[in-house]
Amino acid sequence: MTLPSQAAIVVIGGGIIGCSTAYHLARDHKADVVLLEQGKLTSGSTWHAAGLVGQLRSSASITRVLKYSVDLYKGLEAETGLATGWKMTGCLRLATNADRWTEYKRLATTAKSFGMDMQLLSPAEVKAMWPLMETGDLVGASWLPTDGQASPSDITQSLAKGARMHGAKLFEDVRVTGFEMKDGRITVVKTNKGDIACDKVVNCAGQWARQVGAMAGINVPLQPVKHQYIITEKIDGLATDAPTIRDPDRRTYFKEEVGGLVMGGYEPNPQAWTTGDVPNDWEFRLFDDDYDHFEQHMMQAIARVPALETVGVKQMINGPESFTPDGNFILGTAPECTNMFVGAGFNAFGIASGGGAGWVLAQWVVDGEAPLDLWVVDIRRFSNLHRDRQWVCDRTLEAYGKHYTIGFPHEEYASGRPRIVSPLYDRLKQQNAVFGSKLGWERPNWFAPQGVEPQDIYSMGRQNWFAAVGDEHRHVREKVGIFDQSSFAKYELSGPDALKALDWICANDVSRPVGRLTYTQLLNTRGGIEADLTVARLAEETFYIVTGTGFRTHDSSWIGDHIGEGLKATLVDVTEDFGTLSLMGPRARDVLAAVTDTDVSNAAFPFGHVREIAIAGHTIRALRVTYVGELGWELHVPIAATGEVFDALMAAGKKHDIRPVGYRALESLRLEKGYRAWGSDITPNDTPQEAGLGWAVKLRKNTDFIGRRALETASGTALKKRFAGFTVDYPEIVLLGRETILRDGEPVGYLTSGGYGYTLGMNIGYGYVRNADGVSDDFLASGDYELVVAMERTPAKIHLEPMYDPAAERVKA
Ligand SMILES: Cc1cc2nc3c(=O)[nH]c(=O)nc-3n(C[C@H](O)[C@H](O)[C@H](O)COP(=O)(O)OP(=O)(O)OC[C@H]3O[C@@H](n4cnc5c(N)ncnc54)[C@H](O)[C@@H]3O)c2cc1C
Repeated sequence: MTLPSQAAIVVIGGGIIGCSTAYHLARDHKADVVLLEQGKLTSGSTWHAAGLVGQLRSSASITRVLKYSVDLYKGLEAETGLATGWKMTGCLRLATNADRWTEYKRLATTAKSFGMDMQLLSPAEVKAMWPLMETGDLVGASWLPTDGQASPSDITQSLAKGARMHGAKLFEDVRVTGFEMKDGRITVVKTNKGDIACDKVVNCAGQWARQVGAMAGINVPLQPVKHQYIITEKIDGLATDAPTIRDPDRRTYFKEEVGGLVMGGYEPNPQAWTTGDVPNDWEFRLFDDDYDHFEQHMMQAIARVPALETVGVKQMINGPESFTPDGNFILGTAPECTNMFVGAGFNAFGIASGGGAGWVLAQWVVDGEAPLDLWVVDIRRFSNLHRDRQWVCDRTLEAYGKHYTIGFPHEEYASGRPRIVSPLYDRLKQQNAVFGSKLGWERPNWFAPQGVEPQDIYSMGRQNWFAAVGDEHRHVREKVGIFDQSSFAKYELSGPDALKALDWICANDVSRPVGRLTYTQLLNTRGGIEADLTVARLAEETFYIVTGTGFRTHDSSWIGDHIGEGLKATLVDVTEDFGTLSLMGPRARDVLAAVTDTDVSNAAFPFGHVREIAIAGHTIRALRVTYVGELGWELHVPIAATGEVFDALMAAGKKHDIRPVGYRALESLRLEKGYRAWGSDITPNDTPQEAGLGWAVKLRKNTDFIGRRALETASGTALKKRFAGFTVDYPEIVLLGRETILRDGEPVGYLTSGGYGYTLGMNIGYGYVRNADGVSDDFLASGDYELVVAMERTPAKIHLEPMYDPAAERVKA
């Protein structure tokens, strides 16, 4: 077969991800697709994978993607005639201590929330299932019967055959060597065997994806790491359908293979491969066996399965795999180039993800938008910070080392910090701030009072900051607090067509007079919420847009990609130009009035307005908004003046008892007020109507906008899910999100956010209540609710209005 000179879509890489993507593009979309593999199919990381297939992740959508893989692997042989080696053996996860056991109880609840039947077993039950295992140190195990194992090469060959059967053209021994670009888009894929003109490119080049992306100026922040396992000779008494085992307290995993065991692990001292380019001639290659490094796993594994002490080792596999700084894979449209899509960085679960990742990536390529909420794996979660390869390497190795450690709530990474600091960093540190990091920014989570060590001490129950955050929370409710939110992402959109562009992009009406703010969602074509932000009209043709720290790349790409063809509107990221100080609380006006000559009375400066005001000789953009349910202003200060303005506010606020407040108090305050958080409460899977945000959509106006058609189509039908709040009046309960919601004893949804409201003195959760026949007010109000928290049912009260709602005049007067 000769290489075509043209194709609609070129997929680069013949590992499991590339083959699955090509298969789905051909099968589901009848696309004209060509796949190019520089060596032979599977010859990168895929051929040497161990083949464990787990499904449960902390995101419902990613769990759905992994479940899809299993369904596909089960049935693929019937379609292609090539077996996948799929065996539904189930998976045991072992717990040897109380914290791990709590983690599993929460995990089992999450599984149930996502429709999977995870059970908890006693050590005796585990022993009965896996008699060769030493169980004396076990508290118990979780058991997911639908997990299993498969043969990585066989699945990939089966997918490749399926892709060909549906019309895809797959080429081996063809290396992509570069791209021709025009206006920031790829027009031609260059190879060692000729050029292919194309519309779209999908980069599934595994550990090479970074360098393949770089040829088009695209950053794919992954790091190849060496990962080892052994395959033993036959072990007497080992059943061929023995469940796979994950033994995280001993950092190891096991899988039966032809009567012996595959055993590998995640060591705390992982070994990065190169931070430079990966050699192209790495076909079917491995690193040398490293028994010294592997010994730590061997010792732990022998303690678990004593038969390993005497059985022979048939083979050791030491292969490279791509890992990422947050342990999630990388999918979607590259922000730097709208026609390159990426599917890479699979963190040693590429076989488990392959089927589903190919399915959603193919849909994404065809539609230009993700088919479901894939935010946790979206390539737009990264920023320029992730172009620093040493930083990516350090953070990735930390994430790898934590793969099997207990996931404590609110845990922060330690590596590569501090990286980006606000001008207030030293001042806040002096006030005993305990920082967290978001997209590289150091942000104060809480402030340790006198006598309390300024450091997080993690635990499964209430953590050491609980009381201190309560004090900060009450301070904002009763007096005035100042939040350093300088890490907010900020953009300016300007030009004669700026309003026209925003009219189309925003669900709410931004065509307000100069000086007004608009809170708005940006919707996808399904009416799902792609972003949630504030737009301030600074001048007729200039808009200032403020969004969350983590959404910087995502939101700017979304806006940039949807400015209509030919419109004169320019989007500029001005994040680093402004520090942001949020002055919040009933005494906020008194403090502000003391530092500016501008009239900040309600009449002169009402809610929902933006004004330029002077503080300490500097011109400041003051936005009258609140995320905490109190009177307040967001002050956007020229970055160099942030310290001076902060000092002026602190000095003027002294008599009002002003104090700095951190992000954990902010979270508690917003939970009480019922403000939705994008990425958890509101996502591309949820429409404004479902989220109770229909009031912020300009359906009554005769302006078209992205998502309008979908909302109009849905408007005649009953909503099948609706966002609601819940309180639980037991202080010892800890809500984190993903707890199951029961209505009259039946599961109807799960929490998207959870936390504690200090003014209410109660636990607060939010989530969607679902019902196939529709969720009316009556349906919501008439049920008896419980939440399942770590496998225990606890009574809950539903709230359809904000739980904390100070008299409107307090916030808006
Ligand atoms: C030791 C080990 C054990 C593992 N165990 C498991 C497991 O139990 N379960 C699990 O789910 N996952 C496991 N994995 C992970 C799994 O192997 C990977 O996540 C998966 O194979 C990644 O597939 P891929 O298609 O992204 O990458 P690859 O298989 O590496 O495919 C990328 C392909 O792109 C090609 N390519 C690169 N550059 C170019 C170019 N310029 N032109 C053309 N082609 C190019 C390469 O040749 C390569 O074949 C394991 C990994 C290792 C290392």
